[in-house]
Amino acid sequence: MKPVILNLQNIAKKFVGNSSNAVDNVCLKLHKGDILGLLGPSGCGKTTLLRIIAGFEQPQTGTIEIAEKLVYSPELFTPAEQRDIGIVFQDYALFPHLTVVGNVAFGLKKQPKQVVEQRVSEVLALVQLQGLEKRYPYELSGGQQQRVALARALAPQPQLMLLDEPLSNLDIQVRLQLREEIRDILKAAGTSAIFVTHDQEEALVMSDTVGVMYQGHLEQLGTPEEIYTHPASRFVAEFVTQANFLPAHRQGSMWSTEVGCFQFAGKSTANNHDSAELMIRQEDVILQPADDAALVIRTRRFLGREYQYCLQTPSGKELHARTMLDTLLPVGTKVNLAIATDKLRVFPHGLG
Ligand code: ADP
Ligand code: MG
Repeated sequence: MKPVILNLQNIAKKFVGNSSNAVDNVCLKLHKGDILGLLGPSGCGKTTLLRIIAGFEQPQTGTIEIAEKLVYSPELFTPAEQRDIGIVFQDYALFPHLTVVGNVAFGLKKQPKQVVEQRVSEVLALVQLQGLEKRYPYELSGGQQQRVALARALAPQPQLMLLDEPLSNLDIQVRLQLREEIRDILKAAGTSAIFVTHDQEEALVMSDTVGVMYQGHLEQLGTPEEIYTHPASRFVAEFVTQANFLPAHRQGSMWSTEVGCFQFAGKSTANNHDSAELMIRQEDVILQPADDAALVIRTRRFLGREYQYCLQTPSGKELHARTMLDTLLPVGTKVNLAIATDKLRVFPHGLG
């Protein structure tokens, strides 16, 4: 088992004047060399949790250990600069009056000149910025500036890197490219990291483990595959997989909805209830045209490798379906849904 680099126990933080906790009883462990993607909607407490780990913010309860050393408990506060952490923010935060080299060398000040030069050139090679050493931040693109910020944070070889939405200010093309590169760079450096994002695809692509946050608490912690295929709550299902949800009533071994009955064989806490929400993933449905079907195709969008259909239920609800290109049906067609039994999920009513 890899050593534990970060151990959070029961971290809670309430800001003065707020009615609820910004971070609510969060426990998690991060192992050496792993990347944890912290995923959740705006305002769910991601930045606050990162600032608590970094030592910029004090929680009211809990303990924090970094590399098996206690850095926070209600009786102990280790200041940020002694926590051995590297941080990359959304807005780069480079020193405008320093060159690329000056920025990267900033955290290495107390070491001999030769050691600093050697380390700066190593990390600049790692983030592929050789040749730009003498430039100033204003002479760099957004993506290049973020690489400098990454190099600056990596240079002192911290135990843990914290990245708070580092790609949010970049164009989509740069974002897609840089997310793969950041993962490769962190892996090449062997650095453990927490990568905060509100983008579910980014979290799935970047992370070894994904932590989904909602209203201050950690809803689920698991591999990207676990989170996607076995969401632990309706919130995770909706936020991560962008699935459809339909109200359903139990009828024997079937769940009945306004668009038909579906068999669900799996385990669910909703199995004790007579009514629940059926989760139907966009990519799991097969559209079967039939004259007496309850659903009508309202729009069809060509997405290159697939079609996305918008379907209307009798009550006026919209469902989305994504199909292979061989399912080409005109707008106005009435369709039934067929779904493999093992693909369905049932959740109790309500978010949580
Ligand atoms: P996220 O990064 O996920 O968008 P934040 O951690 O920034 O979320 O915020 C979590 C909650 O805490 C929000 O409701 C936000 O308004 C509140 N909050 C964050 N910082 C402060 C602060 N300094 N004072 C008061 N409330 C704050
Ligand atoms: Mg934030």
